[in-house]
Amino acid sequence: MCQLLIYDLICCHSSKKWSYCADSQSSGRIPCKRQTSLVVSYPTPAAFEPAPLCHRPECHFNRFDGVWDCCWCGKTHNTTGRCSGFRMYYEPTTCEHICCPFCKRGDQGL
Ligand SMILES: [Zn+2]
Ligand SMILES: [Zn+2]
Ligand SMILES: [Zn+2]
Ligand SMILES: [Zn+2]
Repeated sequence: MCQLLIYDLICCHSSKKWSYCADSQSSGRIPCKRQTSLVVSYPTPAAFEPAPLCHRPECHFNRFDGVWDCCWCGKTHNTTGRCSGFRMYYEPTTCEHICCPFCKRGDQGL
């Protein structure tokens, strides 16, 4: 049976990849009738490596080459799609801002 793997990517987008069974491989990689799907959350477990790359043109995380400064809290050098900075909002909370057009490219050299 074929499995549709839905990867949660480092940039917070998701990307789909088919894992074909022997039947469908021999018939030219068309998924067979018995299909299941599975969400593979980030970080990608070794069994599901390699994770597909994000090819979305609107992916700012890719546009900044994976290093960015948050426009919400000012956290610099984020290396995942979701900001790991802290903000004071009644109590300290994780920023969790997802890289957007107003964020800045981070310093690659550090
Ligand atoms: Zn199959
Ligand atoms: Zn992306
Ligand atoms: Zn932030
Ligand atoms: Zn932003």
